[in-house]
Amino acid sequence: MPQILRNPHDLKSYISERIATGKTIGFVPTMGALHEGHLTLARRALSECDECIVSIFVNPKQFAPHEDFEKYPRALDKDSNLLEKSGVQSIFAPSIDVMYPPGFQSTVTVGSISKPLEGEFRPHFFAGVATVVTRLLLLVGAHKAYFGEKDYQQLQVIKTLQRDLAIPTEIIGVPTVREESGLALSSRNAYLSDIQKQQALTIITTLRKMENELKSGAEIHQIEEAARKNLESAGFDKIDYITIRDAETLLPPTIETKKHRILAAAWLGQARLIDNIPG
Ligand code: AMP
Repeated sequence: MPQILRNPHDLKSYISERIATGKTIGFVPTMGALHEGHLTLARRALSECDECIVSIFVNPKQFAPHEDFEKYPRALDKDSNLLEKSGVQSIFAPSIDVMYPPGFQSTVTVGSISKPLEGEFRPHFFAGVATVVTRLLLLVGAHKAYFGEKDYQQLQVIKTLQRDLAIPTEIIGVPTVREESGLALSSRNAYLSDIQKQQALTIITTLRKMENELKSGAEIHQIEEAARKNLESAGFDKIDYITIRDAETLLPPTIETKKHRILAAAWLGQARLIDNIPG
């Protein structure tokens, strides 16, 4: 079984022992309830580094009071088994008090890249993510850390803070892992009924349709409008956004835009689903 480390002291001695013997460390931060997406990040880490450490911490700072912090799925024993099968050597699973000890009062905020899309609909979210990820990266001190493109804007925010704060861990983005149906794997898929899972597929089919329309030269606003209608007809309860953006700034494309990213966030019942693909 992977060794479970509960506090920065044990973590530091575990890591420094390995670094002293010349090992390279890969790090995968997660909130647990692991699936094949997370395990793909861990396997990628193990293919590039001698050791992989996975953190499991449901971070209260990135949930607003009305969001699903309490009901977010938690399954440390099952996660630990899955990680063992993937060859992961250690898990950092701190309590809230360990991550945010009494007196903790710092917040990391990232500028313009965190403002549109998720930043608009979950205004508290990226400060919570940036704060926990910065603390985790500094505590672990890995050579490389792996994040999913599934959370594309989050990956851009993390790349930005790593660069701006000169954090000495390389940030690596890993393509989204999907079910055969195309549905992006997510711990929140556990909230979906079978019927909702079918409905959820409309997100990826619509994103792919948008990609084709963009390639064939259609006008962006028209593509976006048709896409929104598609999700509405599929019975989504609320559509936060379905949009084509500049892949670097995440703002609407301009003549300067080199690469596009097509992103969506929409609600089915209690579940907020996000997905994105390159344009
Ligand atoms: P989470 O536990 O949801 O915070 O995710 C932890 C990490 O796994 C983040 O870097 C996510 O982007 C990544 N991740 C989640 N789902 C997927 C997926 N389907 N494919 C690839 N990476 C993923």
